[in-house]
Amino acid sequence: MQCSKCGNPKVIYKREQSGQILCKDCFIESIEKKAIRTIKKEKLLDKGDKVLVALSGGKDSVTTLEILDSFRQRNIIDICAVTVDEGIANYRQDGVDIAIRHAERLGIEHRVVSLKEEYGITLDEIMQRENHKGSCTYCGVFRRTIINKAAREMKATKIATGHNLDDEVQGIMMNYLEGNTDNLTKLGPKSESKAEEFTTKIKPLREIPEREIGLYVVAKELEVHFDSCPYAMQSFRGEVSEAINQLAEKHPTIKYSTLRGYDKIKNILKNELKKDYSHGRCRRCGEPASNELCKACSFLEELGL
Ligand code: SF4
Ligand SMILES: [Zn+2]
Ligand SMILES: [Zn+2]
Repeated sequence: MQCSKCGNPKVIYKREQSGQILCKDCFIESIEKKAIRTIKKEKLLDKGDKVLVALSGGKDSVTTLEILDSFRQRNIIDICAVTVDEGIANYRQDGVDIAIRHAERLGIEHRVVSLKEEYGITLDEIMQRENHKGSCTYCGVFRRTIINKAAREMKATKIATGHNLDDEVQGIMMNYLEGNTDNLTKLGPKSESKAEEFTTKIKPLREIPEREIGLYVVAKELEVHFDSCPYAMQSFRGEVSEAINQLAEKHPTIKYSTLRGYDKIKNILKNELKKDYSHGRCRRCGEPASNELCKACSFLEELGL
């Protein structure tokens, strides 16, 4: 066996969907080129952008940081980062420490914001309450609110998240299975909210499978936090992910075809549903909200905080 690109006999990866066999250097190059292709095709970056990377310390966010840093080194963009500490015992702290080390290594502005400081409660404490709505529901909403606020305070023009192909396909299928057509139209490479308070979100890794990002960080010897969240498998996302991965074993191209199919119908769906995304303000915190309270504040009120 030898590398399909350069003939090197020391190969590390076979792409199931294409049959391509790659050596370490060609594999690394292929991942970086793919992300850069997505960035260019979807016009994710503009010269002079200050991009806030949502940096958890996991493989996806560290890869996002690494790839965007090549744009920073060429003075095309500036980068800053924020890490959200949800307060998950025996899990989050390692990621936070790794995120701090990456930010120091690159010399970028970095903030760590905890749910405890921001809202007076950790995710673990919320999960001890009766009638909670499930860890990921709170986690997603609080994290999004904290990241949006940090982006405004740090004067970022874009927020980059580490969503990979698997995340994106799970999002499409979850919303489809739940009949959540409003959320279905909000996925994609770049958020399109018109509210000025919402910084545009971009997903440079959305066409790269999760396992290839895992191999990329190992091949590049990047320090990452590999453990998965103790709440992950309790979630609907976890179940959907398992089902998709089972199907992908026999049908290696289904993740790509689901993504391509979604990209083709997204605009049709959006026009058909003609959703008005205009926002008012949350009466409690002043953040943009489509109801009287933003999602984060309505959760806080339910929790009696
Ligand atoms: S799995 Fe759920 S609880 Fe854990 S970090 Fe992800 S969204 Fe948060
Ligand atoms: Zn090669
Ligand atoms: Zn609010």
